[in-house]
Amino acid sequence: MKNNHQIAIIGAGPAGITSAIYIKRAGYEPIVYEGMIPGGKVNNTAIVENYPGVDQTSGPDLAYKFYENLQQLKIKVLSQQVQKITPFADGYMVETEDAKDFYHAVIVATGTSEKILDVPGAKRLLHKGISYCAVCDGPLYRHKTVAVIGGGDAAVEEAVYLSSICENVIIIHRRDEFRAASILVQQLKSIPSIHLEMNSEVVEIKGENYVEAVVIRNNTDNKTKEIRIDALFPYIGAFANTTFIDDLHIVDEKGYIRANDKGETSLPGLYAAGDVIRKDLRQIVTAVSDGAIAGIEAARYMKEHDF
Ligand code: NAP
Repeated sequence: MKNNHQIAIIGAGPAGITSAIYIKRAGYEPIVYEGMIPGGKVNNTAIVENYPGVDQTSGPDLAYKFYENLQQLKIKVLSQQVQKITPFADGYMVETEDAKDFYHAVIVATGTSEKILDVPGAKRLLHKGISYCAVCDGPLYRHKTVAVIGGGDAAVEEAVYLSSICENVIIIHRRDEFRAASILVQQLKSIPSIHLEMNSEVVEIKGENYVEAVVIRNNTDNKTKEIRIDALFPYIGAFANTTFIDDLHIVDEKGYIRANDKGETSLPGLYAAGDVIRKDLRQIVTAVSDGAIAGIEAARYMKEHDF
């Protein structure tokens, strides 16, 4: 079965976009499915300063440049959420709400989503002062006091960004050391308007109709205290967007796809790239690298099978 769009890429973050570029350059027609907006999680990153060859830039600007690369190569992007991938004949059926399409090869590059905070008040006050996107909502809290939860790269980076807008930023972290990159932690500690609440866990978020305060418990002495805040930004990690491929049994116990150094999964013609795969380092630059490799390998697979 010859198909004009021979390779499907699920996800238009840095990994998916790079796969599409390499596939197109290898002479095949990729089609990219994206349920949200092209650029993926980069859109939610305030500042990017570790992507070689690019001066410090905003995440949305870099995401848009990635998207422009797709447009320049006339690569088709479908704004559709993929619901299922099913092995079928010598390829895969990719299912969305509206259609079922067949492809000989598929690259899954669906990235990760933010873990949602689960404490009293967190659900009720979501979008009422609780936000998982500092670059989107931070500007609403100019000259106000906000808190960030977490000690990883995302929490520290976004706290630094928020300090450029807000009067005070409180970072609440459950341990006494950060897991974020040392350069980010140094930057964080050098900013006088950022206050640290270490060894502290959020136990409740208070507010009638909008966030008014956060209650934290210090886990060394078990004492609790209430801090008045105007907004809360939890950055407590991420989970892989793989529930739609549960049936394929290619993920590990945490939901990340097992792929080898060619991006191959255990299923022929099914590749994976970017943050969604099981690996140690999740960066834009590693997602781009995974995407290039998976793209080249998928094109090679097409050629070897004469598809
Ligand atoms: P992460 O590295 O997993 O860090 C999550 C943080 O949240 C950890 O400090 C963790 O504490 C804390 N945490 C987890 N569950 C919690 C809970 N229920 N309550 C309170 N705190 C909780 O996640 P991330 O920062 O989102 O980063 C995800 C990946 O993207 C990482 O690989 C990261 O390197 C990458 N990333 C890179 C950049 C960059 O390079 N500029 C920027 C953003 C993200 P513990 O430390 O105690 O576990």
